[in-house]
Amino acid sequence: MEDDVDYRELWADLSRRRRHFLFFWLGWVPVGGGIMFALVVAVHALRKIGISTPDAAIIVFFVALIAVWGYFFVTTFFRLGAFLCPRCGGNGIVNLWRRHCPHCGLRRFAPSNQPLEPTAGRSDA
Ligand SMILES: [Zn+2]
Repeated sequence: MEDDVDYRELWADLSRRRRHFLFFWLGWVPVGGGIMFALVVAVHALRKIGISTPDAAIIVFFVALIAVWGYFFVTTFFRLGAFLCPRCGGNGIVNLWRRHCPHCGLRRFAPSNQPLEPTAGRSDA
């Protein structure tokens, strides 16, 4: 096994995936709230000009905005989960509660390959 493998570019990719996921996950609160607020404002504006039942196109527009945000949330979630350990190809290294790969023990964000640890593969390590 090579010891001089540089993982920094792969970890940068993992950091980018995590940022995108967190943006679409946590961003749901202000964006979803903003979309719902804009819908309420639009319905009230229509009532003021005498339209009591909003056109279905307006409802579809706001639902489409929410669906687009949901699409990006789901795709970034699966893209983050698809990140595999650069050393062994196992999954689980993106787990927030773990600092090491559960399969080979590689420390997350280690700049290069490390020697295998005797506790590699243990979930409590
Ligand atoms: Zn691994």
